[in-house]
Amino acid sequence: MGVSQFARSIAESPTLALNEQARLLREQGESVVHLGIGEPQNRAPQAAIEKGVAALHGGKVKYSPTTGLASFKQAVIRYTEENYGRTVAPRNVIVTSGAKQAIFNALFAILDAGDEVVLLAPYWVSYPEMVKMCRAVPVVVTPEGGGLEPTIGQVEAAITPRTRAVVVNSPNNPSGMVFPAGLAGGIVRMCEERGIHAIMDDIYHKLVFDGVTAPSCYDYTDRDTDDSHLIVINGVAKTYGMTGFRIGWAIAGREIVGAMATMQSQTTSCVSSLCQVAAEGALLGPQDEVEALRLGMEHNRDVIVGELRKLPGVRVIEPKGTFYCFPDFSACMRPGIAANSFELSMFLLNKARVVTVPGLDFGLEGHLRLSYAGSTADVLEGMRRIRWALDADGPREIEIGGRTLVREWA
Ligand code: PMP
Repeated sequence: MGVSQFARSIAESPTLALNEQARLLREQGESVVHLGIGEPQNRAPQAAIEKGVAALHGGKVKYSPTTGLASFKQAVIRYTEENYGRTVAPRNVIVTSGAKQAIFNALFAILDAGDEVVLLAPYWVSYPEMVKMCRAVPVVVTPEGGGLEPTIGQVEAAITPRTRAVVVNSPNNPSGMVFPAGLAGGIVRMCEERGIHAIMDDIYHKLVFDGVTAPSCYDYTDRDTDDSHLIVINGVAKTYGMTGFRIGWAIAGREIVGAMATMQSQTTSCVSSLCQVAAEGALLGPQDEVEALRLGMEHNRDVIVGELRKLPGVRVIEPKGTFYCFPDFSACMRPGIAANSFELSMFLLNKARVVTVPGLDFGLEGHLRLSYAGSTADVLEGMRRIRWALDADGPREIEIGGRTLVREWA
């Protein structure tokens, strides 16, 4: 009632149905293991807490400039120098309410109705809906041959005269892949040559494993920041586990930052200055907590990949970053169990009390996204249950929450 047709055309996350079912089961006293989690379980870094508390005690928490507090922007500039080897000016930085708002505002700043944005499956669930909210059209490139990333040739083939942007997310949610330099660099070069924006969603760029580093996109462009088509997105949510502070930012040419600032000034005015101060503490403070978080994720990655490899038919490509992996479960999608990834997720929730996220949500059917952001014990318990539910050669009985369950399906 009263809701526009356009608003109705925007999908809510299909994951909501699964989360709701998980909540109902928990309410009924069931022991549910959550492998759907999208955030680290750490405490915020001490330096962030102290800076935030000091600002609160000061008692004056006021509007910040639309593009962000000067001192926080300086911290972002330092972060960009240290992590990307690029010196940018304050006019190239805009602070946003989470990386999510940075991506939306960037899209809104560059898209006209009917323009196209190239997305690479598997992609983060919000990209297609954000593009649609800008009255533009998502064009999805799907990898071939069972891989988790496309070739540069496939990306090039998706470009049309209406393409305004390519969104790159590496390390990738949901796959955990770090794109090889040839792919990431190839996309940046192509975009710069053709005058298309490369929106680099780098929110996981410090959560990388095995000594791998995500390459800096600035290594592939000769243009200075104001002339470049790069829009680089980052934030404190994942690297520092500060999801609830809602602090992200974008680095881009002055014109793009200006357009993003105009929109922000007319919608949210500015980002919480209290949270900017806390985020400044995180960026400028000791980085050992970041390393501890990263090491914990790397350990959990080893655990989950080891467990997945014990599951007959399941194919897993080892993640090189993030806290997700995206195994191919299509061998388990058989009569009596599930016809697609959504049904398989529901099956695992209802039978084994484990939350996973269907590949369908990320534009790649046959897969499930499993998060290892929780405790190692949760990862092991979740995998023990999944193996019981799906491995017909394993034991038929399992203890879950003090009850013995018997597998009644083949
Ligand atoms: N991009 C990706 C790929 C993400 O996974 C997320 C968070 N799930 C975001 C952006 C949004 O980050 P933030 O919480 O800073 O808005």
